[in-house]
Amino acid sequence: MMRNSFSLGTIFGIELRADLSWLVAFGLVVWMLSAHDFPMNYSQLAPGATFGLAIATAIFFFASVVAHELGHSLVSARLGLPVPRITLFIFGGMAQLSREPQRPRDEFLIAVAGPLVSFALALGFGALAWAGPGVVGLPLTAFGRWLSTVNFALALFNLLPGFPLDGGRILRAIVWGLSRNFKAATALAGMAGRLIAFGLIGWGLLLAFRGNWADALWIAFVGWFIEQAASQSVARVALQDTLAGHTAREAMMTDCPRVGPAMTIQKLVDEVVLASGRRCFPVVGGNRVTGLITLNEIRAVPREEWATTTVGTAMIPLKELKSVSPEAGLIEVFEQMTEADVNQIPVVENGQLVGMVARDNILAFLQARAALGV
Ligand SMILES: [Zn+2]
Repeated sequence: MMRNSFSLGTIFGIELRADLSWLVAFGLVVWMLSAHDFPMNYSQLAPGATFGLAIATAIFFFASVVAHELGHSLVSARLGLPVPRITLFIFGGMAQLSREPQRPRDEFLIAVAGPLVSFALALGFGALAWAGPGVVGLPLTAFGRWLSTVNFALALFNLLPGFPLDGGRILRAIVWGLSRNFKAATALAGMAGRLIAFGLIGWGLLLAFRGNWADALWIAFVGWFIEQAASQSVARVALQDTLAGHTAREAMMTDCPRVGPAMTIQKLVDEVVLASGRRCFPVVGGNRVTGLITLNEIRAVPREEWATTTVGTAMIPLKELKSVSPEAGLIEVFEQMTEADVNQIPVVENGQLVGMVARDNILAFLQARAALGV
């Protein structure tokens, strides 16, 4: 989902990325402020100044979104659940937790941290606006007032009690803490999320009937996004439930085509990749596996160099690879793949590669079990 993204740098050891869709959001905010909000409310501002101010305000708006996500991430890291990256996309920001919190209290603290940051920012920007044109000048007043309102709205919206919003996580943490039933708590928060989503879509339709197309589309889109995310998070918990108790050994494939380090990329593609339909290939030097080459590494080599580059130079050496043991639980395997942002992970026992687990294998494993009713 987040494949088309670029890095904006690292903050507190967390990678900050922006999805391409975020550029649309940035453009929309600048346009809305410079063409609509600022000229309407502050007609004394010169048009040139309005545009510069709109850009500065948009930058601080997205910095506020990042601060909100950092609130979640830093509390999460403090509780032993590191967050590898934060991604900005069209509907805001997303801190990617590598694992679900194991205790209701942790989930509550992580969820509540984001809205608290937004409330604090609303107060800070509000103080700036409150100082007024006489003290900080009209542009800073306009800047402070808009950012204060928006951060306040961001905090309130995120506190709506449905998945995947922060309020939904808070609701789940409370129900989970009281009932000790994680699955039921997730189902409830997911259902509440879908209700909120349908409410937003309905509101969007109502606005459309009144001819307010711009707001209608936006609200309906947000609703649709929440609906998707709510369904997905319920599905993910169901998946975890099914995976519980199963190990990497049960789902791994042991018949990955092995290749030599001296083979060229061109030969690998022509004779192994296309013929086998597989996506990853252990590289064997001497008698042991020394590395792994996947479609990602192949793609990283420019096509005109395929004939001259060898597998040995393009592969990832075994010692740099994240791996799991055959007895690792499938849930943990899934989490490791998410954390490393890869589609497959080697299974290593006593320094020897014994198999590979790919996302597809886990799906196939689940489907086979479902088909047999076991
Ligand atoms: Zn949040």
